[in-house]
Amino acid sequence: MTSDAYVMQTYARYPLFLARGDGMRAFEADGRSFLDFAGGLGALSLGHCHPVWLEAVREQAATIGLVSNLYATEPQARLAERLAELLPIPDARVFLANSGAEANEAAIKLARKRGLSQGRPKIVALEGSFHGRTVATLAATGQPGKREAFEPLVDWFVHVPPGDLEAMRDALGAGDVCAVLLEPVMGEGGVRPLPHEYLQEVRALCDEHDVLLVADEVQSGSGRCGDWLAASLSGVVPDVATLAKGLGGGLPIGACISRAGVAFGPGEHASTFGGGPIPCAAALAVLDTIERQDLLANAREIGGRLRDRILVLTPDALVTEVRGRGLLIGVQLAEPVAHEVVLAMIDEGVLATEAGPDVVRMSPPLVVTPDEADEAVDALVAALGKVAAARGWTA
Ligand SMILES: *Cc1c(COP(=O)(O)O)cnc(C)c1O
Repeated sequence: MTSDAYVMQTYARYPLFLARGDGMRAFEADGRSFLDFAGGLGALSLGHCHPVWLEAVREQAATIGLVSNLYATEPQARLAERLAELLPIPDARVFLANSGAEANEAAIKLARKRGLSQGRPKIVALEGSFHGRTVATLAATGQPGKREAFEPLVDWFVHVPPGDLEAMRDALGAGDVCAVLLEPVMGEGGVRPLPHEYLQEVRALCDEHDVLLVADEVQSGSGRCGDWLAASLSGVVPDVATLAKGLGGGLPIGACISRAGVAFGPGEHASTFGGGPIPCAAALAVLDTIERQDLLANAREIGGRLRDRILVLTPDALVTEVRGRGLLIGVQLAEPVAHEVVLAMIDEGVLATEAGPDVVRMSPPLVVTPDEADEAVDALVAALGKVAAARGWTA
């Protein structure tokens, strides 16, 4: 039995050693199998080892693997063009990075570059948000518990409560703000979709104050919520959007996409690995497959089925709300027992994750079928029953 004792223990891990994946299933070395509704925290858009994705990665690795950004490559050029085509952002330009935090760093630098030249250095972000673990993205993150040990961080961010238009209006009225940074569906903060009207009003306020709207769609984008950007579900077009998790289908890639007139010039930003041919080929395979198999519609359909069934089949006393859009789903529990529920789901053969102490999150691959959705709901119901019984609650 291998031990991970030498790995820096930055995660409170579930007691599993995963060895292999195939489609919707992940396996331990001894063969025990799990229906994967954690989906690599939403990164596994096509599931494990999807044949189209695998072939694209293999072929690219065997053709040319890395050139740095001193030279152009076809996968990078094609991916940037595809993203510019698929996203509603007008005359878009794309910076490719290696992760969500890096994509957000690029967006923050872009906004600040413009803002500093106008004497407007601040960025408004939301309480409860999550934007990454690098120094600037951690400062942007509206969760004091994650920041505490590292304070003081940069003082560029002003946090306001999500959904509170008055607070947003006041913050923008101060005159020192260059951008609003928000997740259209707050992922780590409990899978909380921002109301459509709120997003539309924030868009209008940003226009009124000539402030950039930056949508962190690292978790909600790339098709997960049923459209390429979750903001589109609210009829809102951001000035800048960031993607990562689902974009590479399992390979590390991030993208910062900005509208005409908001871009870096030569020397202003860089990355050695960013936009390398292999992750770009993987991302192209992901986007093509989503389009060809109409997985945006599947995300909407199966997401709706999951939410409906969870609401019907779970006891009201334990599940107080089911939130989300498409295949980003949060099950709000009445008590902070999400960890126990996820552990009990593992015993039932299904992987899920936590989004806070009292929210169970499901972010399965977009290829999930109705039967698999039902299997996951059954596991959730059984897990809730076990946790309730162990705690002496009547389910
Ligand atoms: C996961 C996440 C990030 C950070 O992405 P990494 O790839 O882990 O750096 C940023 N923003 C949101 C909304 C996320 O969900």
